[in-house]
Amino acid sequence: MRWIFFLVIIFAMIIAGHAQKNPFIVVTTKATPLPSISPAPSTSPSAAPTKVLNRGEMSNLYGPCIELPIILYHHIEPMSVAQQKKHTSLNIDSEVFRKQMEYLKQKGYSSVTPADLVAFFDEGMQLPSKPVMITFDDGYDDNGEYAYEILKQVGIKGVIFLPTGLMQNEGYLRWEKIMEMNSSGMITFGNHTWSHMNAGREKELVKKEISTADIQLGERGLNVTKVFAYPYGEQNGYTREYLEETGYKLGFTTKNGRILCKGQRFTLPRVRVSGGEMSNYGF
Ligand SMILES: [Zn+2]
Repeated sequence: MRWIFFLVIIFAMIIAGHAQKNPFIVVTTKATPLPSISPAPSTSPSAAPTKVLNRGEMSNLYGPCIELPIILYHHIEPMSVAQQKKHTSLNIDSEVFRKQMEYLKQKGYSSVTPADLVAFFDEGMQLPSKPVMITFDDGYDDNGEYAYEILKQVGIKGVIFLPTGLMQNEGYLRWEKIMEMNSSGMITFGNHTWSHMNAGREKELVKKEISTADIQLGERGLNVTKVFAYPYGEQNGYTREYLEETGYKLGFTTKNGRILCKGQRFTLPRVRVSGGEMSNYGF
């Protein structure tokens, strides 16, 4: 009997030793992990959760509405050039851009202009079944060199928002090029302030910035539809009031979205597209 007792002891020792070496077994013998610290409750009551409205609900509140993605671009040039100029974060490689435009065309999208959108809002004009608007902010010279050429080849219209006081400077469009693009009928231009100033600043500054750009565009016969894009997406209530008072028809933000409503014509959302496939952005 004694040898059986020793065998049992030895067997138990082997199991114990094995359990310490084998992490799988050790885990099962460990106490359950402590619950993770839950987030501290906020001291002030949070706002009621905002529900994302669908197109029908938005139409009732702000309509008429239309699903119309307005794509927001900045620089378009070969990535190697953007690397040299250190603005890769705002650049789409020109060949990627070409593929994106060709993709939209293949998928049956039709480019519309700000004037088309105003006609939809104010006159009930019918827009194509798959409308899209291509916009570029800041008036960089590469828009003339690459984006314009590609848009012409693919047959898609574009809109460039100009901080008018920066034109003619290194890296920006020149007025001659702007006029050439305008006369092609493929590109229209909009107001993006005079110095690319945040339009959420002091009222007098905002007025001066918007009105100066308005004059500089108007004296060249540009921005006939009177559309504005908020630099940095910033604005105040009076920015919108001022735009409305001075005959502006649309205001483009950097807020994300693709349902455009008449009642929100001064806070139009856009879709920011970076590199890669357009299908990644819901196209
Ligand atoms: Zn800008």
